[in-house]
Amino acid sequence: MSLLVDCHTHINDFPPLEIPSVIERAYSEGVGIIISAGTTLQSSQACVELSRAHNQVYCGVGLHPMNLAGPIDRKTYHNLEKLVVENPKVVCISEIGLDFLPTSPKHEYQYQAFKNQIQLAKDLNKPIILHSRESNPEVIEMLRQENANQVGGVFHYFQGDLNTAKASIELGFYISFAKPLLRLPWLQEVAKKVPLEQIVVETDSAPQPWKKYRKNWTEPSHLPLVVSKLAELKEISVEQVISQTTYNISKLLNLDLPKLP
Ligand SMILES: [Zn+2]
Repeated sequence: MSLLVDCHTHINDFPPLEIPSVIERAYSEGVGIIISAGTTLQSSQACVELSRAHNQVYCGVGLHPMNLAGPIDRKTYHNLEKLVVENPKVVCISEIGLDFLPTSPKHEYQYQAFKNQIQLAKDLNKPIILHSRESNPEVIEMLRQENANQVGGVFHYFQGDLNTAKASIELGFYISFAKPLLRLPWLQEVAKKVPLEQIVVETDSAPQPWKKYRKNWTEPSHLPLVVSKLAELKEISVEQVISQTTYNISKLLNLDLPKLP
């Protein structure tokens, strides 16, 4: 039986002393690999360190659109490049994209950073893990313009319509479902129509200090909830969902396919 891969998390942001137990709890629920995504240069470095310290952790480096104070400068670009080249456990450029909430950084900076990081992904031949909020058409357009299909990737925390899913798949991007699939009926309808061969799964786990109880924070150990929902929607076995989604993400990120002992 295959183990699951949580293809997008920020477990590097959890309190350091808790991280080993987060990874252990995940493993006991069948999650064998966790990808930790950088959102700044500093957190990208932290993700790399975490991947060095834990067998089960791989990582992505990149600048999140919400964290941009200006355009990406040469030095930052080279530092990101260096992190990828020097660390074999960096398996993707993550997370990058556009975010058009009213409080988001200037669109001009976001476009510049997204475009440059697509270039970085192509230069280094690493897939892209995409962030998109209120900006699906603009993200798809950018992927097209910049020939992101050369590397492909994952549309993280997917909450788009079926046309967006189809356009993403055509560009070589897998559709990643997370916990919103458990509660959004319209997203469940989209998921029914996306072929399992194009689906991957994630939790987007990050500290959630606003929640009253620590036990309610989303963790990679919750990934089986998303998997069970997919199985139910597609009327197939949980086992089938696990083996196909793990196969999909392992192929994209060049991971050694994790198997249960
Ligand atoms: Zn994220």
